[in-house]
Amino acid sequence: MTLHVMGRATRPDPSVEREIGPPLVSALMQDEPLIFELDCWHKTGVDFPDQIFGSDRDDSDLAGLTRGAPLRLPGLSEPEAVRHYVRLSQKNHAIDLALYPLGSCTMKHNPRLNEKLARLPGFIDLHPLQPVSSVQGALKVMDRLAHWLKTLTGMPAVALSPRAGAHGELCGLLTMRAAHEARGDARKTVLVPTSAHGTNPATAALAGYQVREIAQTTDGRVDIADLAAKLDADVAAVMVTNPNTCGLFEREVIEIARLTHAAGAYFYCDGANFNAIVGRVRPGDLGVDAMHINLHKTFSTPHGGGGPGAGPVVLSAALAPYAPTPWLVDDGVHLALIEHADGAASAALGRMSAFHGQMGMYVRALAYMMSHGADGLRQVAQDAVLNANYVKARLGGVISAAFPDGPCMHEALFDDAWLEGSGVTTLDFAKAMIDVGFHPMTMYFPLVVHGAMLIEPTETEPRRELDRFCDAVLDLAGAVKAGNVERFKGAPFHAPLRRLDETRAARTPKLRWTPVD
Ligand SMILES: *Cc1c(COP(=O)(O)O)cnc(C)c1O
Repeated sequence: MTLHVMGRATRPDPSVEREIGPPLVSALMQDEPLIFELDCWHKTGVDFPDQIFGSDRDDSDLAGLTRGAPLRLPGLSEPEAVRHYVRLSQKNHAIDLALYPLGSCTMKHNPRLNEKLARLPGFIDLHPLQPVSSVQGALKVMDRLAHWLKTLTGMPAVALSPRAGAHGELCGLLTMRAAHEARGDARKTVLVPTSAHGTNPATAALAGYQVREIAQTTDGRVDIADLAAKLDADVAAVMVTNPNTCGLFEREVIEIARLTHAAGAYFYCDGANFNAIVGRVRPGDLGVDAMHINLHKTFSTPHGGGGPGAGPVVLSAALAPYAPTPWLVDDGVHLALIEHADGAASAALGRMSAFHGQMGMYVRALAYMMSHGADGLRQVAQDAVLNANYVKARLGGVISAAFPDGPCMHEALFDDAWLEGSGVTTLDFAKAMIDVGFHPMTMYFPLVVHGAMLIEPTETEPRRELDRFCDAVLDLAGAVKAGNVERFKGAPFHAPLRRLDETRAARTPKLRWTPVD
């Protein structure tokens, strides 16, 4: 494959190229300037008629609000604009290019059918302030989606409006707080396992709680004795991820729920890993009081930087009266969204977001559910677990599995014991994966596993792609064992930028572009 370098790409170091061969993914080599840097401001892709910008423009309706100076939008011809955005679209690794092994993220293929349905004019032209009589079909979609989510989880209620998993966690905890407060019970603590996703303690803190950690056993699960010891009358909720972030099923989950309820607390389940159990386990049967479902993970809607996501929260009968508004109600003739249901409790929380949530994601997720059916969704979970175990089996003999005994759920977790003494770290290894055309796996998470590498292949990867990925990892592992440290320390060599200063990027990010002139 020839390498077509655009923009200001850093050329690969030829000595390294001789050693590791030409890059496999040329798209990663492009460096594209900002559109403002490409700008030639007097240029335009369209010739506007004089009435719009010329002297005979009619400003009489503008009440003096006429723009006094030109708007500094970047000026590009049409091909320049198209190329800019196409090059940007190729800068990132994408699920449409290759397997995307990020653990805990469920980067599965999103069927094109979802997109087709979400783009039907009846959906994309909707406005949230339209009269309710004109959006009965859209409300029906929400109602059907709610029905699927309740059925799959075995829970009686669902709040659709949260915009992401983390927002769903907040919704769940605020609902629990409202339920405690309704009884005059001002509990102050939330218990979270040490292996929890960072959003769990962050959410608990945002909801005004003190966070206490629950220890983990050596087999990667919640330490029940430690949980029982910490469950006092001040605990409002216990938050547990199941399957957990080590990719293991919490076998004692029913006991966790029982102990939690016996202490007067609620049981929050982080449902980000629902892909491993969808169609096979109903969280309602496990004693869960609230669980968010990341539609962008399990139900194949696009992941979007906190933007276009949706994280509905299913609720138990105890919490359902405290669900946020609006509520979708069916009077037998019409569907309606209402702000105040009967009973005082319903108004406690108010809204989690403007209007009713992310309609486009509802359509995509429902399309996914209906096209798979219950049997198809059950197979999703089976194949996701099978694929992860295939990866664990192929890699486990060479790189060290964090919990080697027994199968994993939908993600395979490795540690850095096998790198000890090699001079190569988890970070170095991950960066070297970019050079061979793969997105790195999740690194250093969960924190309880030293130098963690978490791989989630998902059910949508065929065996051929799993093998291509495993071959690449094993090949790199061979280079580690051969003592080829340079290949890792300097990686990535085949990317427009080399090793970034991640601390500086996080601490002093540049969020605004300032014109040079
Ligand atoms: C992804 C994830 C979250 C947060 O979900 P977002 O939709 O990214 O806000 C929470 N917990 C776990 C375990 C996750 O993997």
